Amino acid sequence: MNDAGTAAPVAEGNSAAAIAKPEPSQPSSAPAKIRVTNLSFFYDEVQALFNNTIEIPDRHITALIGPSGCGKSTFLRALNRMNDEIPGTRVQGEVLLDGVDIYGPTCDKVILRRRVGMVFQRPNPFPKSIYENVAYGPRVHGEGRKSRLDEIVEHSLRRAALWDEVKDGLHKSAFDISGGQQQRLCIARVLAVEPEVLLMDEPCSALDPASTFRIEELMRELQKDIAIVIVTHNMQQAARVSDTTGFFLKGELLEVGPTLRIFSKPDDKRTEDYIQGRFG
Ligand code: ADP
Repeated sequence: MNDAGTAAPVAEGNSAAAIAKPEPSQPSSAPAKIRVTNLSFFYDEVQALFNNTIEIPDRHITALIGPSGCGKSTFLRALNRMNDEIPGTRVQGEVLLDGVDIYGPTCDKVILRRRVGMVFQRPNPFPKSIYENVAYGPRVHGEGRKSRLDEIVEHSLRRAALWDEVKDGLHKSAFDISGGQQQRLCIARVLAVEPEVLLMDEPCSALDPASTFRIEELMRELQKDIAIVIVTHNMQQAARVSDTTGFFLKGELLEVGPTLRIFSKPDDKRTEDYIQGRFG
């Protein structure tokens, strides 16, 4: 797979549409979990996002594609206010989660990040055991009962398709498992607090093809219950896993639509050029 920060060109004559997952029967009928309207973002005086509007449907996978530096990660981090931790940043516009403005005065960021969890490019387990990595979030949110934590750890590791591989070594260090397993552990850690949305920022770019395949399978399974937004530089991955694709260029969401259409008949020539690997 391509993980070097460049777009993987889709071979001519082997259109990504051919490998795209089938369209959901009624994509537009899925309710919006997140509704973003005219979102702009600034790092000090530098504007990184320009008036972006998109609906993130529930129980769908939305892929964000576009060349490096065009604002995909900034946009993703705006969906659970992770950018707030960067000094000098400023946001304009509206992000509604189930109709409630996450930038409104009543928003509790701890609760927001539990509801909208995030997985990063490189697996980043805590320097703790596998068990403690998964139990960490529920403990922070007040769960202290050992029997309940045991249940949550098992359930989360099962959902992350990791249980069978680690059940006999739950108290081993999280650093003693492979990179692909660490990434699934990080997903289990997020799942342990029952998120409603999962943000994934190039979750496979540090993984080998077999681990990538497992994460993609896992995404399809999780999609039955939650909304997923994935940033990926890998066009084949976007085509394989997502229902909806948004194309970013220079901080602007140029085009959003059903993945099958975006990969076969995009409205904007720049989308087509990017997907075909002509730039990026
Ligand atoms: P992408 O995810 O598409 O590669 P990013 O969201 O990382 O793009 O970056 C968008 C723009 O914002 C780039 O010009 C980048 O240099 C800038 N940027 C990203 N993070 C920071 C930061 N912490 N401070 C200042 N500028 C940043």
